[in-house]
Amino acid sequence: MLKKSGGIYYRMAANDELSEIYHLARRALECQEQLGHKEIIFEAGHKSGAGPESGVQASSADVQSSSYNQMSLLNEEPSGPGEPEYNSLEEHRAAICNCTKCSLSQTRTKFVYGAGSSRAKIVFIGEAPGREEDLQGEPFVGRAGKLLDNILAAIKFTRRDVYIGNILKCRPPENRDPQPEEIRACMPHLIEQIRIIKPLIICALGRIAAHCLLDTTTPLGKLRGTWHSFQGIPLIVTYHPAALLRFQQYKRPTWEDMQEMKARYEKFSQG
Ligand code: SF4
Repeated sequence: MLKKSGGIYYRMAANDELSEIYHLARRALECQEQLGHKEIIFEAGHKSGAGPESGVQASSADVQSSSYNQMSLLNEEPSGPGEPEYNSLEEHRAAICNCTKCSLSQTRTKFVYGAGSSRAKIVFIGEAPGREEDLQGEPFVGRAGKLLDNILAAIKFTRRDVYIGNILKCRPPENRDPQPEEIRACMPHLIEQIRIIKPLIICALGRIAAHCLLDTTTPLGKLRGTWHSFQGIPLIVTYHPAALLRFQQYKRPTWEDMQEMKARYEKFSQG
């Protein structure tokens, strides 16, 4: 089946192993897109006719109007009664851990709420649980999680000092990109977490988290290097640790982002 992600068309593979390879390749191409390539061609296995069904084309127009056209997800009028407010993360977690608001509830192994301090001054937000997270019920485990730990250590933090979560609490099958309806269903959970924690700073890890939180489709490379705001909370954007594992060139800008974030944190702490 042909899928589209960002400006990229790709085919779903027939089994998990191939799907994982596709996922890694797709992520690699997305990173290239973030570096500014406007047209990316990726043929995944089959050769057939021309056009999108051949799995070979992606245009700059697609890039502009693509995937995370989740814009306005946060600005839409709520369709039902407002979300209830909770007194603690524990209470909130207990209330939503069996959530069935979107179809990912049918395919998840474990619900991944988030982890860290309920009084964290910095909240890191990624996109969605991956395979390991889905199995363990914890965010950012595996190689990307270890790298995030190293990044935190470099700025003299541990996981216990911060809070780590995702836009989605359940894993999208084959690690595909979150769909707009899933984001729309799940964002109130994250918003409630942030309301309870009341962080001083939010750090969006990767394109999807940044696009969801900032309601934009601007390439990640252009969102870096400046401060944004999510519901009045200063927000900084940097690369997802999984991207750093594949692209050495992202390490320096990520380090710069972390230095900037730490400096702002210290300024807040002193003030
Ligand atoms: S992804 Fe979010 S909205 Fe969907 S079932 Fe899981 S917790 Fe609920």
